[in-house]
Amino acid sequence: MKDKQAQLNNIAAQIVADKVCPDLAAQATQLVFGDGSPDAELVFVGEAPGKNEDAQGKPFVGAAGKFLNEMLQGIGLAREDVYITNIVKYRPPNNRDPLPEEKAAFLPFLRQQIDIIQPKLIITLGRHSMDALLPPGLKISQCHGEPRKCQGHVYLPLYHPAAALYNGAMRQTLIDDFAKIPDIINLIKESKN
Ligand code: URA
Repeated sequence: MKDKQAQLNNIAAQIVADKVCPDLAAQATQLVFGDGSPDAELVFVGEAPGKNEDAQGKPFVGAAGKFLNEMLQGIGLAREDVYITNIVKYRPPNNRDPLPEEKAAFLPFLRQQIDIIQPKLIITLGRHSMDALLPPGLKISQCHGEPRKCQGHVYLPLYHPAAALYNGAMRQTLIDDFAKIPDIINLIKESKN
């Protein structure tokens, strides 16, 4: 069995070979596949690359990424300890919301990433990745910060750092929810012993 990074690289190559979302691909600089440790216990799933991510080829490297890095530091983790990706892997033009068909087209590849990494906890950032991975009809304002099991994985839906960045109340809620992550991971580990 190939090592995890090699398997992840294969999926990235497959997205290009399969010409997934060719309209998005044509307008984007490059594929923004994912970043971090293939052995991570935590996988973060955002929405889609923005301008900085499109330029650098890595997720969450702009203002929202800086905030995410700070919150990771707050729980004693570095970016290299976790794995970060998005549901949609090309930048939508003018940062528009990803379309349902774009999310659907990338979902099988996201699921393969998760299958390879086998994280203990999957953290959805914002409603787009929550809607893609969790059952329909959830409201992020009601379910943020509450872990839930779905199809053999444990998920923690959180607000998106970009939405929370300049909204005082949401920002504090996100920081408070983030602080629960170490306890949630410990509970997951204990329940498997
Ligand atoms: N917002 C996202 O959802 N993803 C990124 O990679 C950057 C900003």
